[in-house]
Amino acid sequence: MGMKTDMRLIDDNGLRIDGRLPNQLRPIKMQVGVLKRADGSAYIEWGGNKIITAVYGPHEAYPKHMQDPNRAVVRARYNMASFSVDERKRPGPDRRSVELSKVISEALTSVIFGDKFPRTSIEVYIEVLQADAGTRVAGITAASLALADAGIPMRDIIVGCAAGKVDGVVVLDLNKEEDNYGEADVPMAILPRTGEIALLQMDGNMTYEELTAAMDMITEAAKKIHQMQVDTLKSKYRGDEDVE
Ligand code: ADP
Repeated sequence: MGMKTDMRLIDDNGLRIDGRLPNQLRPIKMQVGVLKRADGSAYIEWGGNKIITAVYGPHEAYPKHMQDPNRAVVRARYNMASFSVDERKRPGPDRRSVELSKVISEALTSVIFGDKFPRTSIEVYIEVLQADAGTRVAGITAASLALADAGIPMRDIIVGCAAGKVDGVVVLDLNKEEDNYGEADVPMAILPRTGEIALLQMDGNMTYEELTAAMDMITEAAKKIHQMQVDTLKSKYRGDEDVE
């Protein structure tokens, strides 16, 4: 973010380096029930991102001191595979993945009816196989599909999506180059039914007006992504192909 470069990110026609319009999403493909041994699972391809998510639980939380007598404890683990980025990433948790795991856990907790499962834990694994910017929001989108696939009762299916600013233009769903050389990135997770925001972060600089424009763009796109989630879940039970 914010690295100075001569690279132009918006051309004379107002198009982005991958040919998209400012308010256009990258192509998204989703699939649920991709893993046999997990209670719920989902796979998402979102632009250059490839992410698999799996849910275990609810089951008795262990060790016991992790138990909450009133509700399920939701523990998300965001992990990037060593081969998911250009230079081999050192395996295991780092500061970034620990922080992402925490904020994703909190976002998912906010929609799960956890009080139905006291003393249990629900583990959510987010494995990034290929990263191309926007992995936390694609991960959240897939994780909520995996939770639904596991039959865990939720108020809503969370949608994650980012927007930001490149070459002075507010754009939806930044790709890697835009994330690297752009001015701002705003990842957000939203509950489409109520419009509540479950996660909001910002990296870089933008004005208040630009930030609200970015949030409006995300809110609009979230409706589309949510429809894809619903179609994906329905198609599993009809035995259709992946949803694109
Ligand atoms: P997000 O993936 O949610 O946008 P960041 O803004 O932190 O999260 O990262 C943007 C992109 O930068 C990632 O999607 C990935 O392509 C790349 N990236 C993140 N961490 C690393 C890393 N340790 N090594 C190489 N590339 C990384």
